[in-house]
Amino acid sequence: MTISLHGLTKVFPGGARALDSLDLDIGEGEFFALLGPSGCGKTTLLRSIAGLETPSSGTVSIGGADVTALPPGRRDVAMVFQDYALFPHMDVTANIAYPLRIQKVPRSRREAAAAEVAGRLSLSELLRRRPGQLSGGQQQRVALARAIACRPKVFLFDEPLSNLDARLRLEARTFLKRLQGELGVTTVFVTHDQGEALALAHRVAVMDAGRITQVGAPAEIFHRPATTFVASFIGSTPMNLLPGKVAGDALHVAGAVLPAPPGLPDGEEIVYGVRPEYADLSAAPRDDAFPGTVAVLENLGTSTLVTLEGGGDDGDLLVQVVVPEGEEPPAGTAAWAVPRPGRALIYHGDRLIHP
Ligand code: ADP
Ligand code: MG
Repeated sequence: MTISLHGLTKVFPGGARALDSLDLDIGEGEFFALLGPSGCGKTTLLRSIAGLETPSSGTVSIGGADVTALPPGRRDVAMVFQDYALFPHMDVTANIAYPLRIQKVPRSRREAAAAEVAGRLSLSELLRRRPGQLSGGQQQRVALARAIACRPKVFLFDEPLSNLDARLRLEARTFLKRLQGELGVTTVFVTHDQGEALALAHRVAVMDAGRITQVGAPAEIFHRPATTFVASFIGSTPMNLLPGKVAGDALHVAGAVLPAPPGLPDGEEIVYGVRPEYADLSAAPRDDAFPGTVAVLENLGTSTLVTLEGGGDDGDLLVQVVVPEGEEPPAGTAAWAVPRPGRALIYHGDRLIHP
């Protein structure tokens, strides 16, 4: 089932504009991630697709049909909430089978369906337990099983992994991706975790203040963030975003003089973006590098994040570089961060202008 949102706006009583004339098209069978900071409108968007929220204006279509006026029960969607919303007084079977009971599926058939889905999610041993007797990861699988059992045409997930600890979250993520691939059901997955969005989805939409800033495949979002907001939000380490200026065929950025790609607006202020993974450290001075003093070393496991302080004329400027294990510079020494050719992102008035 495709999902199309047109001009979707939601203004809550009290004035919060959670969605602001938003347009979005999600393809059949797509695993689509909605990514954005807390409060940007992700949950409101998901609830609007589910029919749990009435938009102030705009339309929601599922499978080409306008469902804006349909109640949740007639939309053929299943939503998994952040807190799982399991019924504490029902056992696992009854929780999984609950939507089927609402649909008046006979008891024997719904228990058989629950048992089948439970088997798929490794819950067969736990069917008689209540939610209070399950771990967080098990509760999450019950919530998933309940969503799958009614064979919806669309899955809506609202930060379903955020209550799991880091290790379990990674396992659940892989599991979810495999399951979605097997079932092929159109899925909208909401998260504030950029790593989760990039790892799971076919496409990612980055949201900011009720609007969508960029939609694209994970590699595109990662390598060509359309705005400095997206650039600062994506990546396991924060992107260096350094103020600079175009001067003919050169860029003056944080004490470095770098070759300017052709076509930049001469004399204008720009922001030079480079990921810490795409810069190298030099112990010797270079003109095409950001000078600084090694201020902080953070162990990332197989590499180290090095923060240089005081690059260029602006003494407060910080530049970060990821260096391979064993190549860390001593703290307090002078170092130069050399951006790799071809890796720079150049922003003008907040918009990406190169590449
Ligand atoms: P997210 O899920 O991205 O954190 P939400 O969709 O929950 O964001 O909220 C978006 C904005 O709408 C926030 O400013 C929030 O305070 C506001 N909001 C959400 N739900 C309600 C509500 N029921 N009543 C009033 N304001 C709300
Ligand atoms: Mg939310």
